[in-house]
Amino acid sequence: MAAITNKHAGETCIICEKQKRSGIHICEQLICDSCQKHIIETDVSDIKYRYILKKLSKLSLTLKDAVESRHSS
Ligand SMILES: [Zn+2]
Repeated sequence: MAAITNKHAGETCIICEKQKRSGIHICEQLICDSCQKHIIETDVSDIKYRYILKKLSKLSLTLKDAVESRHSS
């Protein structure tokens, strides 16, 4: 599963696309602490939620690639 925290400097959050030093990793993609909070607090009917989901769709593509590469090797 994803690492809880990341202390490495200079990674780009896939949601806000800012350089962040901490957050969670999902499929080697960073979601920063503030974006995690944002996701939790955003109502599903909110337009911002759709924006976040669109960003997260990148993750599912990455996940698919990771799974497929694991199967082929
Ligand atoms: Zn972020």
